[in-house]
Amino acid sequence: MKIMGRTKRNLLGVMAAAFSGGAGTSAPARSYDIDYSSAEWRRRLSSEQFRVLRRGGTEPPFASPLLKERRDGTYACAGCGLALFSSATKFDSGTGWPSFWKPVDGAVAMHADATGHMRNEVHCRRCGGHLGHVFDDGPKPTGLRYCINGAALEFRNDEA
Ligand SMILES: [Zn+2]
Repeated sequence: MKIMGRTKRNLLGVMAAAFSGGAGTSAPARSYDIDYSSAEWRRRLSSEQFRVLRRGGTEPPFASPLLKERRDGTYACAGCGLALFSSATKFDSGTGWPSFWKPVDGAVAMHADATGHMRNEVHCRRCGGHLGHVFDDGPKPTGLRYCINGAALEFRNDEA
């Protein structure tokens, strides 16, 4: 069991390095292209968006209207508008949070959270906003499950 745990953690460590800037970069960027003060974020976001994106909060399960969103489109960062996930990678995980098996290339950064468990935080690459966590029990082809707070996302409908 110990070996299993370590193997999974190592796998996620490798993934974190890959997603946070490619080979040789294991730490997430400390500065972001969009970097507002807390006061400015409070002004721009709803209180729930602020709690999730800027304070690392988690919305209650089954709270997000995006759970039932089935249209083709893009899920963008509610903080800065960066396209994060495509509807083509969305799936129903049954967890109560919008779930995806792959982010848009280069859109998110990851690092292990302070608990050192297998939860890995997923952040918007452009504004550093907290989105959710990634787990390794997702569907094919990646086997990953990006468990994302709907409050951190904004859906853009591609359908005419
Ligand atoms: Zn963002």
